[in-house]
Amino acid sequence: MHLEPDFDAPEAWISEGLPFNAFGKTLRRRFGGRIQRVSIDAGFTCPNVDGAVTRGGCNFCDNRSFSPSRRVRLQQVHQQLTSGIVTVRERYSKVAGFIAYFQPATNTYAPVEQLREVYELALSINDQPEFHDLIVGMAIGTRPDCVPESVLALIEELAAKSYVSLEFGMQTIHDDGLRWMNRAHTHADMINAIDRSRGRGFEMCGHVILGIPGETHAMMMETATEVGRLGFDAIKLHNLYAVRGTPLGDQVLAGQIEMMGRQDYVQTVVDFLERIPPSVVVERISGDAPSDFLIEPKWCLEKSSLRLDIEGEFAKRGSRQGSHFVAPDQPPSDRPVPSDQTPDSIRQMIEKRGRLPVLKMEP
Ligand code: SF4
Repeated sequence: MHLEPDFDAPEAWISEGLPFNAFGKTLRRRFGGRIQRVSIDAGFTCPNVDGAVTRGGCNFCDNRSFSPSRRVRLQQVHQQLTSGIVTVRERYSKVAGFIAYFQPATNTYAPVEQLREVYELALSINDQPEFHDLIVGMAIGTRPDCVPESVLALIEELAAKSYVSLEFGMQTIHDDGLRWMNRAHTHADMINAIDRSRGRGFEMCGHVILGIPGETHAMMMETATEVGRLGFDAIKLHNLYAVRGTPLGDQVLAGQIEMMGRQDYVQTVVDFLERIPPSVVVERISGDAPSDFLIEPKWCLEKSSLRLDIEGEFAKRGSRQGSHFVAPDQPPSDRPVPSDQTPDSIRQMIEKRGRLPVLKMEP
């Protein structure tokens, strides 16, 4: 089956009476059937772990496995994708296509020719008769300070042939919150990255975390406003959650940090979505972790009832995504394209280290 994206009517969800522009339904409209993501660990590390910008990683991230010296065979990338497809097809008989999702670590943090090999390998699965045209595109998770021009040019080239979403860990627009998380980038880095990414044919998705200690409701709403000002195509909303083996987890276990309550989160998500443009695709409305690793909050494991509560809150208010959106004075498309501000330390680490030890695919 060959599925052509249909980007018409981005606000079709409103006529369907939905409270927000949910990802699953958007994919169905674009590709004509159910689309599932298959997560791939391609062996990348992260400039926040290997010392290029800092060490230790973000305080919430379980990055113990992101060693710069680990080896993932390209063959394993291929196998992760094909076995993921087989598993999902066993579970859901009516899946029309798949998105190859480069998820853990920073998936643009390698020499650009190596990135090309890895990304093209994922798309090449379509050439196998068994998986013919099943990969409808890919999603690439990264940091705002790790998209040099050469990488954006590659992604633009791939996006001319396939759906591509570039997922930025924005988290918040407030630098105090970014410092608290040990992100080791600023919101200015996010602005630089998105202003260089816009209009290049790929989707720009932003991860946002709600419930960062020290952030007031008003500050979270400022982040919502920035989603429209910068022109994100999609967002993923996450509640802050703590898992074992992370600095945040230790602080939560020591009683030093309190997580947002469930009712507060429901209200905040609805407030947030009311302030973003109707065209923004909402890829997630909460985050969670396997129950063995999750410390707090436990309520985020109740994904279905959480979603029902969020939808119920919209119904109670008689509102929807975008109800309180105020268009920025300057449309995002009019924002000037700045020069590439990728930190020298990241460029130098890529150059010094050379290719990641991802092994060649065996013939
Ligand atoms: S930037 Fe991403 S991969 Fe790196 S430590 Fe932070 S959350 Fe983990």
